Order: sequence, then structure tokens, then C-alpha cells
Amino acid sequence: MPEVPEGGSGSDRPGSGQPCGTLIIGGGPAGLFAAVRLARSLGGQSGAGGASAWPVRVLERMGRPGRKLLVSGSGRCNIAHDAAVDELLGCYGGGGKPGSAARFLRPALTALDSPALLAWFAARGLAFTIEPNGKVFPSSGRASDVLAALLAEAASLGVQIITGCRALAVTALSGGGFLVEAGPEARPAAGTVPEPAPSGGPEMMTVNTILLATGGITWPVTGSSGDGYALAASLGHPLVRPRPALAAVYVHAWELSGLSGLSFRDAGLVLRRGGKRVCERSGDLLITHEGLSGPLVLDLSRNIEKGELLEIRFPWEGIEKGSSQGRATLEFVALLDDAVLRGPRLLVRTALSSGGLPRALSQYLCEKAGLSDEATLASLSRASRRELARLVTAFPLTVSALGGAETAMVTAGGVDLRSVDSATMESRLVSGLFFAGEILDYDGDTGGYNLHAAFATGALAAAAILGKTLR
Ligand SMILES: Cc1cc2nc3c(=O)[nH]c(=O)nc-3n(C[C@H](O)[C@H](O)[C@H](O)COP(=O)(O)OP(=O)(O)OC[C@H]3O[C@@H](n4cnc5c(N)ncnc54)[C@H](O)[C@@H]3O)c2cc1C
Repeated sequence: MPEVPEGGSGSDRPGSGQPCGTLIIGGGPAGLFAAVRLARSLGGQSGAGGASAWPVRVLERMGRPGRKLLVSGSGRCNIAHDAAVDELLGCYGGGGKPGSAARFLRPALTALDSPALLAWFAARGLAFTIEPNGKVFPSSGRASDVLAALLAEAASLGVQIITGCRALAVTALSGGGFLVEAGPEARPAAGTVPEPAPSGGPEMMTVNTILLATGGITWPVTGSSGDGYALAASLGHPLVRPRPALAAVYVHAWELSGLSGLSFRDAGLVLRRGGKRVCERSGDLLITHEGLSGPLVLDLSRNIEKGELLEIRFPWEGIEKGSSQGRATLEFVALLDDAVLRGPRLLVRTALSSGGLPRALSQYLCEKAGLSDEATLASLSRASRRELARLVTAFPLTVSALGGAETAMVTAGGVDLRSVDSATMESRLVSGLFFAGEILDYDGDTGGYNLHAAFATGALAAAAILGKTLR
């Protein structure tokens, strides 16, 4: 392992030659929140100027921090979900085995549950609105207000945010601490306009503790393009293959592309693999020009592979919300039989629409079932009724592809959770190295779970770094 270099660096305590301070790599929600929590605690512990006595710096490769936070929730920032910790924990994948990510995140989410997270921002002037589905947004409807609160807090605490500067390499020093090589953002992230970068070549810094909060691989235009994985791997950390999650589903020669833009509340999806039902979920679904999107399919996407079969259950009046596919099929047949008795001269497409299906979809399903435009309920054979039931409650499609890193919302995979202590977010392999946020191998459903986890793991890391600093 290299020794501390002679002459020190930008982060050395002047004259000491010893690594000093904490460097947070990545100015997203996890990194910024960790920075302000740590700096505030240091100020509180050591009196005035705590943060400057123990420098807390954030290194951000983009020209401005928090780019992904700004686009979150379509610019509205679904910051959290209004639910108890046990319920939240059921909404994370990752960690290899079912339940691993939940076990890993429990200490962080318990230490900073939804009320505690919202209270922190409320104390800094933000108000929140809880939507009926449990999603929590700033009442202003602006993600920029969340970022502004973080940046104002950072400025008031003397946290230095170095922008346009990319961590290139991190080396653990033999006597403790780290040597960090950082430099101006030479190559803009894919699809971005070049960011203003400071002049000068690579800079070397020595620091006592490091928090890697570089995010995942998705939406690289925001700056998160997977750098942190290489840095973690260079320090000996095992990785679980990072891959896009919360991704839209594409369907080759998509039959419903003409209906793009239609959305359904409480639809159902069944995923089949090799003829067997692998999982089934219900939620809100969006038909797109190229396939499916919306929370239902995004949340299920971590389980879906190219070539697999999905079956859609469209919501229909009288079919109980959240019904399993099998039950929904039986319920649909019974409802249709009943409708035939009540109004045999009703057109089939009108009957489908009066059950809540959009007109264009009703018409398409009739055509697909081989029924004429003028077919009445009385004219339906038993086979046609069964076929309609299949199309409404188990409409089949084959997945031709999943949205890639450019469009998926989060990353599944990342730093192996087994190599990180869930009580502190410290590496089990390298003392003084911490992780927070999406770089870790967890991925939450849509609904505020990912931002909450980023804030909570950042806060837990900050508390542990504080403990180490004061020791
Ligand atoms: C379109 C979209 C909408 C979303 N909406 C929501 C939502 O409403 N609710 C929700 O809970 N989640 C949402 N998410 C997910 C959520 O935004 C992320 O999970 C969260 O931002 C992760 O925070 P993070 O701090 O771990 O990483 P990031 O936010 O990705 O931040 C990492 C930072 O590290 C910087 N960085 C990377 N490499 C380096 C390097 N080598 N040197 C210096 N800096 C570096 C990056 O530039 C970036 O600023 C959304 C995601 C997307 C893409």
C-alpha cells in the first residue's frame, strides 16, 4: 500500500502531513445528505467551525450537483412513501436472495423513517403533500426545492462542493486514509453538453474517510455512469452485475401501439417463464408506442427477461381490484353471462366499454376475438365468451427488450451488500471506506423508495463516520 505522499494535498490538515477530513464522492441525494448530516454533527460536537476543523468535501463530476434529483418524479420529486418501515422494506429487490436487501436496509430506514426524513426537510421550510397512493411530494411540486434545501444547508455548514471534478482513482494508504486522484471532467457523460470544468490537471488529495455515493448506471446524462463500481472494485469490493431496473418493456410489432397513451389504474400483469407463472402484480399500467410502461411494469421489470411472456389483466367493472388472474377470468365470464341475460341486444364492444375499457381497446379486442363490429351479446358463442375473457384478463405479449441504461430509472446490482456493514455502511474490507445510495446492490419500486433509501443510507454513513472521527 502507498504511504501518505510528502507535502500532503488539498485535504490535509495543514502541516500535519496526515490524511484529514471526509471526501464524499458524488453530489446526489445520498452524498449531499451525508455531507450535511456529518457537517452539522461535527459543528454540534466541536463548537463553532466543526466542519472546517474536519473538512467535509463533496466531489461532483458534473457542473452542478443533484442532477438526477432534479429530474426525479418528472421534476416533482417523489421523495418518500407514506408507510411504516416494515411495509417500505417489502418494496426493495437486490442482495441476491429474497429479503436480503430488506435486511440490509432495515437499520438505515429505521434510523430515518419517512416521518423523520420529511421532518428534516420541513425544519428547512419545505411542506409536503401525501397523495392517495402514499407517494410524498414537495407541496410546491418542485424537485428543485429539495435540492435547494440541501445546498443551502451545505453552504451554511461550510461544506465544500467541488463541481466539474471527477474522482478517477482511490488508493487505500498503509497508515490509514486514502489517496484520491481527481481531475476535471474531461469527457462529458453520454448525451450531455460539456460542463464547465475547472482548469488544471489531475489533483491528488489525501483524506481520512471516503464515502462512495456515485449512484448507478442509468440516466448517465445526470452524471451517474457507473464510475463508483470501478472505484469500489479497485479497492477489492465484489460487485453484482449492474443492470437497468425500473425499465419499460418493449414488444416487437406491438399490436396495441395505436392505443399508446392509454393508462389503466389497477391493471394486473402475470409473468410466465417456460409456461409457468413466475409472478403476478397489480398496479397502474401505461400503453406506449413500443410496449408497456407505468409503475406496474416498471416495478416488475427487475424480474423480466427478454423473450418472456407477459399477460395483462385490464381492469373491468365488477372484477375485484387486485384479483388474481384466474379469479378475474372466472369473474369476467360470470359478469358477461349476466350481461347477456340482462341485455342480449347490446353490442359486445359497447358492453366492454361500459365495463370501463376505453372504446378503442374494446373495439380492438372484439376484432381480435373474431367478432364483427355489430356483434351483440346474444350472438356470442361459449368459445367467443371464453376468448373475450382471455383477452381482457390475460392479454398475451412477448417481451422483445427492456429499456436500457439511457431510459431506465434505477440500477439493480452494484456493490455486494455482503461486503458492507448494514449498521454503519462501512466496508467490511477497507476501514474508513463507506457507501451510500444507488451504488449499493438494492433497487426500490417506484413510489419514493429509491430516494428515501439514498437519504437514509447517506444519513447512516454520516453517523458512523462521525463516530469514527471522534474516536
Ligand atoms: C427519471 C428518473 C426519475 C426518478 N424519480 C424518482 C422519484 O420520484 N422517487 C424516487 O425515490 N426515486 C426516483 N428516481 C431514482 C432516484 O433519483 C435515484 O435512486 C437517486 O437519485 C440515487 O441517489 P444517489 O445519490 O445514490 O445517486 P445519484 O443521484 O445518481 O448521484 C450520484 C452523483 O455522483 C456523481 N458522480 C458519479 N461518478 C462520479 C465521479 N467519478 N466523481 C465525482 N462525482 C461522480 C454523479 O454526477 C451524480 O451527481 C428517479 C430516477 C430517474 C432517472
